[in-house]
Amino acid sequence: MSNIQEKVVIITGASSGIGEATARELASKGAKLVLAARREDRLNKLQEAIQTNGGQAVYKVTDVTSHEQMEELAELALKEFGKIDVLVNNAGVMPHSFLYKKKVDDWNKMIDVNIKGVLYGIGAVLPTMREQKSGHIINVSSVAGHVVGAGSTVYAGTKHAVRAISEGLRKEEAGNNIRSTIISPGAVATELTNSITDMDLKPGIDKIYEGAIDASSIARTIAFAIEQPADVAINEMIIRPTSQER
Ligand code: NDP
Repeated sequence: MSNIQEKVVIITGASSGIGEATARELASKGAKLVLAARREDRLNKLQEAIQTNGGQAVYKVTDVTSHEQMEELAELALKEFGKIDVLVNNAGVMPHSFLYKKKVDDWNKMIDVNIKGVLYGIGAVLPTMREQKSGHIINVSSVAGHVVGAGSTVYAGTKHAVRAISEGLRKEEAGNNIRSTIISPGAVATELTNSITDMDLKPGIDKIYEGAIDASSIARTIAFAIEQPADVAINEMIIRPTSQER
């Protein structure tokens, strides 16, 4: 039996891309899923697809930038399934631009979704995981959490922050049997680049994404981290397209 079977897994950003692929992968391995994002039509379709294939999933329309909504998401998991085994903090946005263009709204959005959203997720599940004396928090960072490129400055700042937060979490909760994993993808074919409005950057990024890999590749690495025995923590993985140099 897979170590994923019967695990209760909350996934943020489940309405597309990596989150959706992860939901499908984990459902096929018997996880009980709690799906979160803002687009209800997408969540509804995904829930139906999972249920049609014999899997279990509930969803809640959730904005990760709301501390209250993240708390309610964790409460839903407890109400429906009685425990929380894994949180996949995956929701993220990437409206790249050069700093001099002062796209302040985009800076704020990235900080709110990519950093505060991750923190609110951790805050929402930690009390339960500490009480259970078990749990696993998986934070999706990026190659941009390791490498800073011109035009990706703010995004890279948020993804470096995700890695710092994950490492602090690991140290703080190691004694409570709570695992922490950082997933750092390279170019993955999703909707992520749609939010880039800076036309000085878009063509270059589209070029990089020509070699993008499928979101299912990242979903498999997340499943791999979850299915390790409880005393084994995969703390960090970088997954790039083979052809991606940077
Ligand atoms: P997508 O754009 O396909 O998915 C992003 C997800 O985040 C969507 O489900 C979206 O749902 C959700 N989301 C965005 N804002 C919010 C919000 N305020 N509240 C709740 N959910 C939100 O991109 P990916 O699948 O690629 O992105 C997933 C993660 O992977 C992100 O953290 C991204 O930074 C990271 N990543 C992606 C890479 C790539 O090349 N694709 C590379 C490295 C990292 P909705 O709009 O319905 O709310």
